[in-house]
Amino acid sequence: MDLLRLRPPAPLLPRVDDLVAVERPDVPMHCLRPAAIVAAASGFVGSFPGEVLYAVKCNPDPAVLQAVWEGGVRHFDCASAPEVALVRDLFPTAAIHFMHPVKSRPALRTAWAAGVRDTVFDSADELAKILQETPDQDRGLFVRLALPCGHAVYDLSGKFGAPLDEAAALLRAARPHAARLGLAFHVGSQCLEPLAWREAMALAGMAIRQSGVRIDIIDVGGGFPVAYPDVLPPPLGAYFAEIETSFEALGLPEGTTLWAEPGRALVAGGVSVVTQVLLRRGDELYVNDGIYGSLSDAGAPGFRFPSRLVRPQGTAPSPVLRDFTVFGPTCDSADRLHAPVPLPADIAEGDWIEIGQLGAYGACLRTGFNGFDTIRSVAVRDAPML
Ligand SMILES: *Cc1c(COP(=O)(O)O)cnc(C)c1O
Repeated sequence: MDLLRLRPPAPLLPRVDDLVAVERPDVPMHCLRPAAIVAAASGFVGSFPGEVLYAVKCNPDPAVLQAVWEGGVRHFDCASAPEVALVRDLFPTAAIHFMHPVKSRPALRTAWAAGVRDTVFDSADELAKILQETPDQDRGLFVRLALPCGHAVYDLSGKFGAPLDEAAALLRAARPHAARLGLAFHVGSQCLEPLAWREAMALAGMAIRQSGVRIDIIDVGGGFPVAYPDVLPPPLGAYFAEIETSFEALGLPEGTTLWAEPGRALVAGGVSVVTQVLLRRGDELYVNDGIYGSLSDAGAPGFRFPSRLVRPQGTAPSPVLRDFTVFGPTCDSADRLHAPVPLPADIAEGDWIEIGQLGAYGACLRTGFNGFDTIRSVAVRDAPML
């Protein structure tokens, strides 16, 4: 792979502090930790009892995709034709799955031409659309099952998914047209409760029994959580154990397999952002990144991210920490971090703050609002901040 050749081996990559000292970045600097992503991906692939699809929307940066690939992921969950094209370009041999329940007809045709065979739907009309737009060969058809409101920080069941009876009817309707028939669900993002998968699996079992047809795959979606300050989820193994035992309890025929679609769990620790302090006013800091940039989850969703002062020259930072209110660079008063950020009491204009755990839903949600869309991207050898 070209990217692999372009990137020096991890021990030769610079450290965040050294880069800041030399480059004194005056736009947000995204620090990719390829080794952290490789490790998280290979850990997931090595212990999940089934196939692992990376949810591309979580972070589609080619360098991130490359690290996920190096970690052993060969399947990709895409939700649009551009995502399919991106993955196909980077990895000609990757298995790509189009796991969005509502697709445009042109997107379906483009994806099929790119070798994508698996699609998901949650209505009879979408199934009809798929059958019309794809040839009757080697189709993988997945019914997305709706889950009752669950345990995740982000509940994603309000928008997609067929209720139990309908899911059973859709499985029956799809079976004759499917080379592979699957049932998919998604418990929501950053789900802190392993039991959510047991409950979802039981509901999947009911849908399968009610359908009366054989299914080949249960796709347990994404939602596997990572640590944030004050949030320490159970280890991934607890989730996998819950998934495996509840899957076995369904007593499905030999050969039925499990898939998962993790996003956050593979990449969250793999990116930090170094932002610079533009102004201090009492306990308020104005910095050059915010909720319209890489920190949207720190706005209304209220996520807290690990933060530290970076001051390569000048006096040593005060050992006393103080809670600061942090504002982003745009003119919108909503552009502030929801939670106070503890930082050395003497932080001042010109200092930098490194904010970690931003590999998931950080850079990919940036906007150009108010003209603050310029960033730098570097690869570093630092460990994740949590
Ligand atoms: C967003 C999404 C994922 C990835 O979710 P994470 O919480 O990042 O693991 C997986 N599957 C579907 C259907 C999604 O919409």
